[in-house]
Amino acid sequence: MAAHDPVEHKYVYDFAEGNKDLKDLLGGKGANLAEMTNLGLPVPPGFTITTEACKAYLTTGREPDGLAAQIEAHLESLEREMGRRLGDPDDPLLVSVRSGAKFSMPGMMETVLNVGLNDRSVVGLSNQAGGNDRFAWDSYRRLIQMFGKTVCEVPGEEFEHALDEIKRAKGTHNDLDLDADDLRGLVDAYKQIFAKHTGREFPQEPREQLDLAIRAVFDSWNAERAVLYRRQERIPADLGTAVNVVTMVFGNLGPDSGTGVAFTRDPGSGAQGIYGDYLANAQGEDVVAGIRNTVPLQELEQLDKTSYDQLLGIMARLEEHYKDLCDIEFTIERGKLWMLQTRVGKRTAAAAFVIAGQLVDEGLIDLDEALHRVNGAQLAQLMFPRFQLDHEFEPVAKGIGASPGAASGKVVFTSARAVELAAEGESVILVRRETNPDDLNGMIAAQGILTSRGGKTSHAAVVARGMGKTCVSGADELEVNVPAKKFTVGDHVVNEGDVVSIDGTTGKVYLGEVPVMPSEVVQYFEGELDPETIDDALVRAVHRIMTHADAARRLRVRTNADTGADAARARRFGAEGIGLCRTEHMFLGDRRELVERLILASGEREREDALAALLPLQRADFIEIFREMDGLPVTVRLIDPPLHEFLPPLEQLAVNVAVAQERGEDVAKEEALLAAVRRMHEENPMLGLRGVRLGLVIPGLFAMQVRAIAEAAVAVVRDGGTACPEIMVPLVGAVQELETVRAEAERIIAEVVGDSGVEVLIGTMIEVPRAALTAGQIAEAAEFFSFGTNDLTQMGWGFSRDDVEGAFFWRYLELGIFGISPFESIDTDGVGRLIRIAAEEGRAARPGLKLGVCGEHGGDPDSVHFFHEVGLDYVSCSPFRVPVARLEAGRAAITTTGSDSR
Ligand code: ADP
Ligand code: MG
Ligand code: MG
Repeated sequence: MAAHDPVEHKYVYDFAEGNKDLKDLLGGKGANLAEMTNLGLPVPPGFTITTEACKAYLTTGREPDGLAAQIEAHLESLEREMGRRLGDPDDPLLVSVRSGAKFSMPGMMETVLNVGLNDRSVVGLSNQAGGNDRFAWDSYRRLIQMFGKTVCEVPGEEFEHALDEIKRAKGTHNDLDLDADDLRGLVDAYKQIFAKHTGREFPQEPREQLDLAIRAVFDSWNAERAVLYRRQERIPADLGTAVNVVTMVFGNLGPDSGTGVAFTRDPGSGAQGIYGDYLANAQGEDVVAGIRNTVPLQELEQLDKTSYDQLLGIMARLEEHYKDLCDIEFTIERGKLWMLQTRVGKRTAAAAFVIAGQLVDEGLIDLDEALHRVNGAQLAQLMFPRFQLDHEFEPVAKGIGASPGAASGKVVFTSARAVELAAEGESVILVRRETNPDDLNGMIAAQGILTSRGGKTSHAAVVARGMGKTCVSGADELEVNVPAKKFTVGDHVVNEGDVVSIDGTTGKVYLGEVPVMPSEVVQYFEGELDPETIDDALVRAVHRIMTHADAARRLRVRTNADTGADAARARRFGAEGIGLCRTEHMFLGDRRELVERLILASGEREREDALAALLPLQRADFIEIFREMDGLPVTVRLIDPPLHEFLPPLEQLAVNVAVAQERGEDVAKEEALLAAVRRMHEENPMLGLRGVRLGLVIPGLFAMQVRAIAEAAVAVVRDGGTACPEIMVPLVGAVQELETVRAEAERIIAEVVGDSGVEVLIGTMIEVPRAALTAGQIAEAAEFFSFGTNDLTQMGWGFSRDDVEGAFFWRYLELGIFGISPFESIDTDGVGRLIRIAAEEGRAARPGLKLGVCGEHGGDPDSVHFFHEVGLDYVSCSPFRVPVARLEAGRAAITTTGSDSR
């Protein structure tokens, strides 16, 4: 018959069969237990049930065929190896059943220790331990507690209450004062709790315990908190978890036993050294649960020098093997060291850079790999000012770091109050249970936003990130009472007007004002700190890695800057030109009056006068910018927004006119303005008279701007500088639009430039879907394309950012329609496809066509990788994002086999 059996799917791997690269199948914990086993490190024997078995179970609701038999076979061979049988009353084998997904999800899923104990084998366990009854009953009560809680959903507090009760009766706070009889009594109490909640006795059959525990681990993949965590960390929902069945080793056998956790370097700062905690006479969970106070790992040297030295040797070995910071869990059983877990450890952004630099120094990795060990999100974090924290400041609550930064201010509970106080020059923190679209004005006015509900994708979080505003969401220790204008946290009551400080990176909330200190990474980029001389491991590491990224990258990085000051700063941050200089602001302030004259002009003369008055002002602006960007290209976008944006708002104007009329004042001018505003009112300004359309409708407007640009360039060149202007026409959808603008612009440029040697390129934004789809035609009239990814996203999706971000994005994120807001990271499938088409067809029509992107996507790490892959020449982003884009462009250009930093 065997010949006809289909090849059976392999669902169970012995530790000796796996390795660290099998994380998809064995989960991180299982793959690394296998790796350590194969390195010859002391790992208690065991096996791993694959994520595939989990996925099959979760889709069908039952264990896949063959799984039970494979578990049986592996269990038998484990029993043979250990010379003990699961549940044997005289000499039992005990195992732990541990979850372990591909990406670590700390504390999210379940583990059950001491599986295999029952009323009979507890005696055998005591014999094994040389008649240590106390230990055996302690282990048994732990099993009932963990099994009850995680497998059968018995409320954990009930067990804790029973334990407290016994301790109280005994007059102690310490578990260790409970003797064997106490613990035997506790087991009885636990069994009653179990029976009360489950309607059945605690299962005595070890194999049933094992199977139920495995099932519970599978199920824990879909536990609510795990689902939320994955959504927040952007971990795919369909990976499933593996289950590890591991022979138990015991840290609770007496003072010569214990358990601990350690890092091979400081995960906070990256500094070398031993960082860990040790707890004598305890099982692993006690360390994490904080039941008793741990001691620094260094003290193990006094307690058990042999194990300590062996542990240090293993940690060095692991670092060398993984070529990275590792964290570990270990247990010492009567002087024998056992390794229970390792993985490449999580670390802060600063530590990521410092460690990558150190590993290069130590010859463990090269600079390419170092570049992959850090990422732009980490660099961006390091560029925010930080709170200067000493012991005085203890957080009162911790929520989710939803939008980075450090903000202090007076607490307000309503949008209106936020606006009011901000207008008085106060800095305010808007505190809400959760924000909604009505809070928008308050959010704009506030320095930071603090909510007691919601995660990284809540309304508050999404909108705050969009605005670049500090936000802590989901600080659920806060009881927010908006009508009473106060919140409570612990014993504190915080009233409107009291000052709080929030850290949008760590999610921590402080009472009072915490002093803020500047980022040393920004100081370095500003040229204020010299990486060669300064004794700052972080700055040196950042410098080294950035230098390598610059050498590696193919993408150029430009900046979006409208003023000389912005241009200068961006240049210090490494910008290689300006990819987007908006000209809108040049129509604001005291120049508004000229714009009004332009709009109200009754004849050609008046209009020309207004334009002539604007010309020198614009020219001066451009001269300043060209000077700052001397020698580097500057893309100037002709005026884009609808002109009525420069006029006063309708309501205000109407009121002014009415009031003035009442007083009998002369209101002819205001009336004309009001009429113009009414005439120009648009239902959908986003899709209205703006961009190139405006240029084609208002005679002389674009011409004036082109002249100002060309004259500014000539002036700079006459002064011995080098100006490289690129004129960019916004919102083009058809080549004819561009051709019309181009014909006039070329005439003016030729006239102004003469023999000065100035060269002016003319190109267009690609931001209307039709432009992307007819890019081959448009390229005939364009020397460059710059993708305006904001508008392309808005028009590609058919929604306007201002209207939708607060209205429904949270829901789309919740439903998984968006993995991330398409305004944060480019939608590669849809909007990205338009970019691909335009890039390909544009270059086919005009080889050498320059391609870039402007808009905040240019500084988004994932988007930068996409733009690299599509073959753009440059990205352009706000000055602060320039270093992030440089780093990510370098990372995109380098392919390594090494681990990607998540
Ligand atoms: P988590 O992923 O939450 O850390 P683990 O599966 O690592 O969960 O287990 C929880 C605790 O139990 C850890 O401290 C671990 O070291 C300990 N532990 C797990 N398996 C064993 C075992 N076979 N023997 C002794 N301790 C164990
Ligand atoms: Mg663990
Ligand atoms: Mg646009």
